[in-house]
Amino acid sequence: MPINAADWYDPDPDLRNLYQGDVLDGVPLVFTPAANVRWVLLRPLPQGPIEGARAGLPRRFIANVDGGLPTAWERPEGELVMAGAAKHRVMILSRSCNLDWKKQIQVAPVYPVEGIEGLALDSLRENDNPFSFYLPADGENMPEAYADLSQIATVHISYFRRTDALVKRLTSRATTALQEILSEYFAKPFGFTIEDDVPQTACYRCGNCFFEGYENALVIEIVAGGKFPPCRRCGGEGLWLKVPRREA
Ligand SMILES: [Zn+2]
Repeated sequence: MPINAADWYDPDPDLRNLYQGDVLDGVPLVFTPAANVRWVLLRPLPQGPIEGARAGLPRRFIANVDGGLPTAWERPEGELVMAGAAKHRVMILSRSCNLDWKKQIQVAPVYPVEGIEGLALDSLRENDNPFSFYLPADGENMPEAYADLSQIATVHISYFRRTDALVKRLTSRATTALQEILSEYFAKPFGFTIEDDVPQTACYRCGNCFFEGYENALVIEIVAGGKFPPCRRCGGEGLWLKVPRREA
């Protein structure tokens, strides 16, 4: 079943707060230049502290390539730099509770699927691409899109104090799917597979079965020495987790 807007978007979002998974417009993102592209450092004229340059815009800046500036990157307060920036549609990735007290929030830019075709589009639509989170089309203001996790950026919390830029809020089903993709992106599932040697004779249970909802997935004793077996229930490689002694 393809993912559709009715499953994915909350039809009546509570506008008092923002949450993980919210899609918002107009958030500026700055992308750092590649290390092999020289940084352009801006020194205000007349010379003064950078804080002053931020407060009252100086008349002039001298642009220097960092390699040609003997004092580059030596200022304790940092440098003013030239970098590309644009306002983007973004998805909030930080956990909702962090929106109350963290200064910096992680977001991913949201791009329309335009130009993505064939197998790449199929896997995107099934949320089967570990770098992206799929967003189905929903009306004029929400073309079919995806949040690009490979471009996660950090943005000051002050951009998330208002909800008037909210485009979409995820349903709890979609939020769970987002959390699954985030844990896959940042971590690997914890457990042993058929590739691994059994380190210790103990009772194990298949984590894949458990997370599929088989909370009572069979607990089996696996003996140290060989490799882990495939899982008989899910038929896959299994993801063997050691069961705490009291459960075994
Ligand atoms: Zn299994």
